[in-house]
Amino acid sequence: MSRAQEILYHVFGYTQFRGNQEAIVEQLAAGGDALVLMPTGGGKSLCYQIPALLRPGVAIVVSPLIALMQDQVSALKEVGVAADFLNSSLGFNQAMEIERALQAGALDLLYVAPERLVTPRFLDLLDHLHAEGQLALFAIDEAHCVSQWGHDFRPEYLQLSILPERYPQVPRIALTATADAQTRREIAQRLRLTEAQEFVSSFDRPNIRYTIVPKDNARAQLLGFMRDGHVGEAGVVYCSSRKKVDETAAWLQEKGISALPYHAGMGADERALNQNRFLREDGIVMVATVAFGMGIDKPDVRFVAHLDLPRSIEGYYQETGRAGRDGQAAEAWMAYSIADLVQQRRFIEQSEAGDDIKRIATAKLDALLGLCETTGCRRQRLLAYFDEDSGPCGNCDTCLHPPQTVDATESARKALSCVFRTGSRFGAGHIVDVLLGKATDKVKEWQHDQVSTFGIGTDMDDKGWRTLIRQLVAHGALAVDHERYGALILTEAARPLLRGESRFTMRLDVARPKKRTRGETTVRSADWPSPHTAEGRLLDALRQWRSSKAKERNVPTYVIFHDATLRDIARQRPTSLGDLATISGVGDRKLNAYGDEILALLEENA
Ligand code: ADP
Ligand code: ZN
Repeated sequence: MSRAQEILYHVFGYTQFRGNQEAIVEQLAAGGDALVLMPTGGGKSLCYQIPALLRPGVAIVVSPLIALMQDQVSALKEVGVAADFLNSSLGFNQAMEIERALQAGALDLLYVAPERLVTPRFLDLLDHLHAEGQLALFAIDEAHCVSQWGHDFRPEYLQLSILPERYPQVPRIALTATADAQTRREIAQRLRLTEAQEFVSSFDRPNIRYTIVPKDNARAQLLGFMRDGHVGEAGVVYCSSRKKVDETAAWLQEKGISALPYHAGMGADERALNQNRFLREDGIVMVATVAFGMGIDKPDVRFVAHLDLPRSIEGYYQETGRAGRDGQAAEAWMAYSIADLVQQRRFIEQSEAGDDIKRIATAKLDALLGLCETTGCRRQRLLAYFDEDSGPCGNCDTCLHPPQTVDATESARKALSCVFRTGSRFGAGHIVDVLLGKATDKVKEWQHDQVSTFGIGTDMDDKGWRTLIRQLVAHGALAVDHERYGALILTEAARPLLRGESRFTMRLDVARPKKRTRGETTVRSADWPSPHTAEGRLLDALRQWRSSKAKERNVPTYVIFHDATLRDIARQRPTSLGDLATISGVGDRKLNAYGDEILALLEENA
C-alpha cells in the first residue's frame, strides 16, 4: 500500500481512489501543479486533502464560501485531521488563536477566504512558514470564480496570481466543476497555471437518473414522484418564484412531508435556520429558488425536482448536480410546459440586456427545450451539449421507457393552419379550442367558429393537441410571441410543413408505469431496503443513532457517517471492530469513537 492509499484507508476510511484522484494526489505530492476539472460529487476535496497530509507543513485552501468551510473543517476534525478556517465569521480572539496554531505548525489544513489571504498581514504569516519550509501546498477551490465572464466572479481571485510569484516552489492545485473550455483557459492564465498538468474528468453523473415529464397537474405529479421512491429522503424542489416556493412548501407540509422554504425574500435568520435543518436533519425537502444550492455540499440529497424550467442546460446540469454527490442512486425530475417557456422568453425579453445577450439566452433556452422533447437518451444529449460523446445510458426516462412516436404531419398542418387562420395572435389554449370546435365565449367573440379550421381536430383530444403544439414550438415551426402574452406565431420552419414538403414526427406523452421497474415494492430509493425487513429496521435504528450523535456534536449527519456507510453496516452486520474497519467510510478515528456503540447497537437489533 502506498502512503496515499494508507491515508485514504486509515484516515478517510475509503478503500479505493475514484477516477483521477490518485494521479492528482501523486502530482501534488511530488511538488507539481494541477488544474482539476471534475463534476460536483467527483471527489475534489481529497485531491488536496491527502497531499496536505503527505507533504510537510500546512496546506492553504482558498474557498469563497464561508458556509462550506465550516462543514469541511468539521468533517476533517471528525476524522482526526488538524484543520481550521479563517474568515469573517470569526471573532478577533478566535482568529488570533488560529493564527497562533498556524505559526506553531499545529495545522495540516487551513481554509481561508481569498480576501484574507492577500492581506499583508496574512502574507507575512505565510512568508514565515515558507522560510521554514512549512507550506505544503495551495489549493484554490471553485477556481472558476476567477473568470470575469462567469456569474460567480470574485475580483479577489485575480490577486491569487501573487502566490506563484511569492512562493514559486510551493505546489498549487486549482479545482472547479465548471466544464467549458473558455473558463478553463481563463483559470490557467489568470492563476498562472498554464504549465500545470490538467486533469479533466467526464462530466457524466451516472448515478443520477434523469426524468422530464410534461406538466399536467404539477403538484400532484411532484407528490407522486416523491412518494414513489423518495419517502423520508432529503431533496430539493426548485421553483421560479418566491411566492411559488412558499405555496409549494406549505402544500407539501399539508401532505405530511417535511418541507421547508428557502428564497432571498426571507429573513436571513429564517433562511439560515432552514438551511441548517436541511443539513443537519434527515429527510428534509427544501423548496427553493435557485438562490439555494451554491455552497451546499450535502452528499445525500436523493432527488432534485424542478417545478419550473431553468434558463439553460448549464443551469439544469448544475442544479440537478446537487443530487447524489455521494455516488449513490439519485433522481433528477422535472415537469415543464409551454407556459414555462413563454414565461422564460418574457424574462429574457424584458431584461435590460443587449440584443446579443438576449439572442444567446434564447438559444440556450431552445437547447434546453430540445433536451425536454428529445426522444433519445437524455444523458447523451446533455453530455453532447458539453461536447462529450457517449452512448445511450440506460438510466434516464427515455432509455427506460422509450417514448412512442407517430407520424403527425397531418395534425401538425392543421395546427399551423389554425394559428394562421386566427391571425397569429392567440395562445395554445385558444388554438386548441378552435381545433376541437369548442364554441367558447372567446371563440364566438372573435368569430373563430367561422374559420375553416374550426372543429377540424376532433380526431385528437385536448391533451394531444397541447403536446403537439409544444413539440412544434420545440421543433421551431411555431414561436412564442412574448410581447403578446404568449401568442403563437408561424416561423420559416413552418413553411415546408404547410407546403407538404416535410413530415413531422411526434413523441407521444404516454402514461408511464406508476411504480419503478427496479425495487418495485419499496417506497425508498431502489437500493434502500424496505423498512419492514430486519435490515430496514436496523438501518432506521442506525440513522436514529446517527441523528442523535450529530445533534450532540452539532454537525451535519453526514459528517458522522454517510448513508452508504450505514447501509453497508446494516447489510454486512460486522461483529468485531476488525470487520467494521473494512467498511467504506469507517477510518481509524471513527472506529475508535463509534465502533463500540455501533457493535452494541447491532447486538441489540440482532
Ligand atoms: P466535490 O467537491 O467534487 O463535489 P467532494 O470532495 O465533496 O466532491 O466528494 C463528494 C463525496 O464523495 C464526499 O462525501 C466524499 O467523502 C466522497 N468521496 C470522495 N472520494 C471518495 C472515494 N475515493 N471513495 C469513497 N467516497 C469518496
Ligand atoms: Zn439514457
